[in-house]
Amino acid sequence: MIIDCPVCSGKGTAESTTKTENIPHFGEILESSLICTSCGFKHNDIICLEQKDPTKYTLAINKDNLSSRVVKSQSATVSIPEFGIKVEPGPKSVGYVSNIEGVIIRFCEGVKQALTLFDDEESQKNGTNILKKLNKIVNGEIEATLVIEDPFGQSKVMDINVKKEQISEEDLKHLKTGFAIFEDTHNNQ
Ligand SMILES: [Zn+2]
Repeated sequence: MIIDCPVCSGKGTAESTTKTENIPHFGEILESSLICTSCGFKHNDIICLEQKDPTKYTLAINKDNLSSRVVKSQSATVSIPEFGIKVEPGPKSVGYVSNIEGVIIRFCEGVKQALTLFDDEESQKNGTNILKKLNKIVNGEIEATLVIEDPFGQSKVMDINVKKEQISEEDLKHLKTGFAIFEDTHNNQ
């Protein structure tokens, strides 16, 4: 569907597509994307069409499960606790369907981006170190834990050894949802 771009307001410059896909053992998902040919704006989202509880997935990554399928929704927090790295949802978060290796590669891209932003010695040392470890996971040389927490339960990790648990009320309070909340500052007229 051709629409006006919500970002640059270009008349009929954006194309919006939605498709549903049935992923075995996952169920039906809706993949939507928006691409503007004028300003280059791109947005992707994955919505699971079934109502789900807040869910946490924990998986020990090793060379045998790098190709296990992952559905990461816009609202999910992805982390590798051993390395102290975490990607929390924000207004620019996207959903995607990938595999474990793809998730690690996205982490690498994030770290590389951080390395260009923070040029002090300590950040460079930490970033380079994390990058080395991430590469070792992709090469199957070391193991690490992947944690995906989704307050709306729309993400999934498809692996026989994945630990799936419901997120407690308490933990839920500390999870970001990816939706910005603006405080009303006009109360005290
Ligand atoms: Zn645009």
